[in-house]
Amino acid sequence: MTDKYILSLDLGTTGNRAILFDHQGNVVGQVYQELTQHYPQPGWLEHDAVEIWQGTSSCIQQVITDNQVAPTEIAAIGLTVQRETCLLWDKVTGEPLHKAIVWQDRRTANLCDRLRAEGKAETIEQKTGLVLDAYFSATKLAWLIDWVKQNLPDTDWERVMAGTVDTWALWNLTGKQVHATDVSNASRTMLMNLDTGDWDDSLLELFKIPRQIMPEIKPSMEVFGTSDRAQLGAEIPIAAIFGDQQAALFAHGCDRPGLLKCTYGTGCFLVAQTGIEVTRSNNRLLSTVAWSTKSQTNYALEGAIFTTGASIQWLRDGLKLITDAAETESLCNKVKDTNGVYFVPALSGLGAPHWDMKARGAFLGITGGVQREHMVRSVLEAIAYQVKEVVDAVNKDSDNPVSLLKVDGGAAKNNFLMQFQADALGVPLERPVVLDATAQGAAFGAGLAVGFWDDYQKLVGDRQVDRVFEPGAGQSQAQENFAMWSKAVTRAKDWIE
Ligand code: ADP
Repeated sequence: MTDKYILSLDLGTTGNRAILFDHQGNVVGQVYQELTQHYPQPGWLEHDAVEIWQGTSSCIQQVITDNQVAPTEIAAIGLTVQRETCLLWDKVTGEPLHKAIVWQDRRTANLCDRLRAEGKAETIEQKTGLVLDAYFSATKLAWLIDWVKQNLPDTDWERVMAGTVDTWALWNLTGKQVHATDVSNASRTMLMNLDTGDWDDSLLELFKIPRQIMPEIKPSMEVFGTSDRAQLGAEIPIAAIFGDQQAALFAHGCDRPGLLKCTYGTGCFLVAQTGIEVTRSNNRLLSTVAWSTKSQTNYALEGAIFTTGASIQWLRDGLKLITDAAETESLCNKVKDTNGVYFVPALSGLGAPHWDMKARGAFLGITGGVQREHMVRSVLEAIAYQVKEVVDAVNKDSDNPVSLLKVDGGAAKNNFLMQFQADALGVPLERPVVLDATAQGAAFGAGLAVGFWDDYQKLVGDRQVDRVFEPGAGQSQAQENFAMWSKAVTRAKDWIE
């Protein structure tokens, strides 16, 4: 074999990352670039799609140069992205028509309310497996189309392309040749029919989205196209695309019902594999596609929590209470509790299990003795409590209670958070050495699709566990305080008019 590497591109909410994996599945090198967050109005969040692509492109160049890899030594590219974030662009100029609207953005909450009042929620949930919410792409695309019609009335709609971040990156990677998405990303748009795996005409009509601007939906693991030689120096097959959470699920080896993982990034996403049949939740979890090959589609149940690591970013960039995310661990360990403070992380409303677009963030229980450390600790404890709510929902939906949680993502580095999480749940957490499970999953998928690897179970089995966090002495306090935290959540719900 002359090919030595798989290149994984992980285009996340807070930044873009290119990672090279070798044949043993080890990380050879990686480059990361943070992505600018644009907040044009309260509750709105945009990304500059040009910055996403330029950042991706420069991460690729740098990881190749730094590690002295020839592009021809790369067997395949795996792509995994923040989901639901979407944009429109002009296929002739290659320019976006507006900034991308990010999954956390709440600007279309009123449109969702209107659809609910019109009695559309049930059909949408039935067809897509999703709860009607501004989180998903459909209402965001409808908003973008409206905006273009009003502000760029001369737009030639034959030239317009729509897509999520994977579609945008794939189109650019292939030198503007391939306009496609994979089924795991498509299942998050609220436009795909979960039973057919295709865009649903009645939903496209409901949201007034012309079918011709939508990408083709393909299986997650197959060759989507090849990279543009002029840009990358070689025609490398792009052989897997996954939504970020589905990629992490794949990396953790959660390929059978009963296996689940939780990723701690900007938000927290607890995803449970449900096998080859669509399973519906009675507790407001989402039914979604896990991944697919040409011959088989796997499904999952998911609890999507919008604001977890994002509240730590906000402590850093908004409140300036900390200078970097890692500092939160020592600050939390300096105090024995939050001194009565509870934080509700509804900075973008609340996702699972509440689905309240009108909730907003709150600190409750502040008294004169409260210090910075208590505030910070309340933010970290709130992350764990949100995950507990979703684990409780999963337990209600299933006959077998969760007995172990596999974790990954940037915030899973935080030992305080992981221990508090184990205490709050009363079950152990298993943290792998490679916390970038998202990138790892996309690499595994691409490598398997092109025959660079042939044994998925071996790849999963070779992953090393860094640490297991057992529930400990903090259990009773963590579980008692959960009730007060839940009371705080009630206060912050249905806040904005
Ligand atoms: P995403 O893919 O959503 O961009 P990542 O998995 O890259 O997210 O993780 C980034 C998030 O993790 C950020 O929100 C950041 O605040 C948080 N984070 C990173 N390091 C730590 C840490 N040591 N403790 C707590 N949170 C952290």
